[in-house]
Amino acid sequence: MRFDLLIRGGHVVDPGGGHDGDFDVAISDGRIAAVESGIPAGSAFQVIDATGQLVTPGLVDLHTHIFHKVTYWGVNPDPVASVTGVTTWNDAGSAGALTLPGLREFVVERARVRITAFLNISNIGLVGENYECANIAYLDVDLFRRLANRNRDLVRGVKVRMGTPTVGDNGLEPLVRARQAAEECELPLMVHVAFGPPEVEEVLALMRPGDILTHCYTGLTMKIVDDDGRLHEFARRAWDSGVIMDIGHGTGSFSFETAEALTAAGRRPDVISSDLHQLSINGPAYDLPTCMSKFLHLGLPLRDVVEAATSRPAEILGIDREAGSLRPGSRADLALFRLHRGRFPLYDISGAMREGEELLANTLTIVGGRPLERLAPDPPAPWAEDPIWPYAQQPFTQQQKTLRELGHTPTAMAAAAEGGED
Ligand SMILES: [Zn+2]
Repeated sequence: MRFDLLIRGGHVVDPGGGHDGDFDVAISDGRIAAVESGIPAGSAFQVIDATGQLVTPGLVDLHTHIFHKVTYWGVNPDPVASVTGVTTWNDAGSAGALTLPGLREFVVERARVRITAFLNISNIGLVGENYECANIAYLDVDLFRRLANRNRDLVRGVKVRMGTPTVGDNGLEPLVRARQAAEECELPLMVHVAFGPPEVEEVLALMRPGDILTHCYTGLTMKIVDDDGRLHEFARRAWDSGVIMDIGHGTGSFSFETAEALTAAGRRPDVISSDLHQLSINGPAYDLPTCMSKFLHLGLPLRDVVEAATSRPAEILGIDREAGSLRPGSRADLALFRLHRGRFPLYDISGAMREGEELLANTLTIVGGRPLERLAPDPPAPWAEDPIWPYAQQPFTQQQKTLRELGHTPTAMAAAAEGGED
């Protein structure tokens, strides 16, 4: 029997499947058939030469927004997947109970990539930019439970955004209801933090082991370090007891200052996710591989960076038999990358720059054994063309424009590195 596809000569980094070395990957019927060295080229109908490249499981992004054309933040996932290697997209609360059927029919069923969802405790989800939890009448636990239970294949957790711009005057009540929904449905709870009140200490007090704190390396007021960069004792206790720390870079939530303080203290995030959405897609988050490159700069080993964006999030989503590794039998979702070496300016959301030494650049994305055609992302939504964004030091679109002009986008940097290496 011949394999359908063989990826030969690459360096496989597959923490979930236990591979880190030079291996060939064979695919049959859309599934991983073998990961071994020296599989002959003649044993497959089609061969892809991956010499000089990294071969990883398709990336699993725990925090994204893909309910495009219906919600403020949503982007169309397939074109982005085709140039970034992200083959599993967990939508973090774009849909609430009232819009979940639309997410399934209009996005999930039409996409090539795999999509899972954390259902928002607010039944209107993220139709608008903010304030989804400001009207407590939208936080209906009974309706949440009904929709979650009828969509168990899709719904993998509960999402709530905590902070004044989302809860208004409702304090901790949205989190209390999200906690109740999580317990009744036996789902993990993902909590977003940004600007308090409420404060992060009160929020963490309501979280349990297995829950996810997203935006964990934020530099905004709900950060988990004090102003001298020391990890708060209450945050240390939560983290060590099993609360999962997730990056969710986005446009408000990745601070090099916080990241460097926590790295110096010997901490590393459990999950690296992009919080990719209408605003963050144009930088400085850009995409998941660029977020991962920031952690290579911070000194995390490549293996650990890949684990935090493949097998670890797949376990949290309860899909690790199907996604996040190259274990034989799992769906053949893979990504190929060049790891460019040089000097790469990388930015956080405040505009602070660090010079990275490595840049992870996707060259090919495979879903269910079939390569995705490389496509340009959809144009921005009209409301995202010139948004008001209070978090950055300079107007947000100005910052993005400056990075484009400087050639500091991942696409431009990878192209320049490609030219230099030839
Ligand atoms: Zn988000």
